[in-house]
Amino acid sequence: MPLFGPPNIAALEAKRDTQGLIKALAYKDPVVRIAAADALAPLRDPLAVEPLVALLKDENAGVRRAAVGALSARGGFRVVDPLVGALSDPDPDVRVAANTAVYRRLMTDPDQDARRATAVALGKIRDINGVEPLVRAVSDADEGVSLAAIRALQAIGDVRAVLPLVVTQAREQARQRSGGRSSLAIERAASGALDALCGPTAIEALEGGLGHDDFDVREIAVKRLSRIRVPAAATPLEVALGDKEASIRRTAARGLADIGWKPTGSETGAVYWGALREWRKCAECGAPAVPILVDAFDTADEAGRAEIVAGLVGLGWEPEGKSALAAGVWAARGDLDKVVEMGDGAIGPLRTAAKEAPHWRDRLAAARALEGLGQTPAAPFENVDLASQALTILDTPVDGDSGGSDKRAAIDAFAASQDLIKPEDGDSLELCGCGYPLSRLDSAGGRHALTALLGYEGEGPERAYVCPACGTPRPE
Ligand SMILES: [Zn+2]
Repeated sequence: MPLFGPPNIAALEAKRDTQGLIKALAYKDPVVRIAAADALAPLRDPLAVEPLVALLKDENAGVRRAAVGALSARGGFRVVDPLVGALSDPDPDVRVAANTAVYRRLMTDPDQDARRATAVALGKIRDINGVEPLVRAVSDADEGVSLAAIRALQAIGDVRAVLPLVVTQAREQARQRSGGRSSLAIERAASGALDALCGPTAIEALEGGLGHDDFDVREIAVKRLSRIRVPAAATPLEVALGDKEASIRRTAARGLADIGWKPTGSETGAVYWGALREWRKCAECGAPAVPILVDAFDTADEAGRAEIVAGLVGLGWEPEGKSALAAGVWAARGDLDKVVEMGDGAIGPLRTAAKEAPHWRDRLAAARALEGLGQTPAAPFENVDLASQALTILDTPVDGDSGGSDKRAAIDAFAASQDLIKPEDGDSLELCGCGYPLSRLDSAGGRHALTALLGYEGEGPERAYVCPACGTPRPE
């Protein structure tokens, strides 16, 4: 072996002579330095790390590339910063090698500290080539790696990260709900990164989330879209108006309203107003509103239900089968026989009709139907049966009636037969303008409301009696 000849790399490699190979890294001939670095790569000796890092500043690009290869093969926390630094090497071949080392090797390093340090370093240099490997690292099994990746993606600011971050936030939300293993830190970091990323440039990425199978993903995407508030967000928000979930449709409609969007055409209008639960405006859009109103009925509140029923009646909708909605529509149309056919579903609409129908005759009919279903109607009548009988007498034509005197006699006889008045004590009836009995007049001229025959509004001292035949309030 010549004393001052070049080191025999093959021989050193065969002997696994790390010390000799490390020494050869400093040899003047770059070919030898390259061969030594290549030979050290599979040995992965910790002592070789520092000399190999020093070679990243070698004047020869081939040597620098070999050093990158050897450090990449070694992997681990200690090589992260030097290799990330090599990403900005002046030589394109070295940069390619460093790219592979950092993005393929270190981001999948078995050591979580190395993966995390790489993510942190990439966030500092803000290299857009880091976006894809960082997106993969968001799902890392180690929370620290995942958090570092999310923060790095936020720092880089590339919208390719938007949808993966939406999916990540949705996944953590779903896990929290189901009580599974979840990370509040990851959810917050993802949400914070989305705050930073979701400007107008993120619209297309967020639109990609609207077709996702997962409800949480669609919900986060539509919320983010609705907050961007630029006209370009209108198109995806219109897409979200077609979502099967009402809450998503509603968020989309609110977002559209915020940017001054107005529906064109009755179909879009019906969906839009339906999403905002503006049932009256929805019904004004005509036939396309019908299925929307029908679908919304079961989950609407009481006031909403009344508007939906009114809208469907206005659209001429014919209910089929038994349902609370059908009962409500029949009640609103005054067809109480049809309402009663709805069985239990009839009770709610009948109670509403008994209290709120515009005509008191319909209120009385509804109260009567409730009694027929075994319900106690009470308000707004004290005695539904008596009031109904009086109304029937009023409505029944009397043969040979002249000037209403026979009708009057029939009413008087009815009141006496029910002990509402005692003609033998000098009682008589005071009638409404329509002929319905309102008061008992005693022999001393006192007026007493015939409450059993009347409807009423209000309670206690506020209670005011009304003629159920014509709706006129009884004079005090
Ligand atoms: Zn009257």
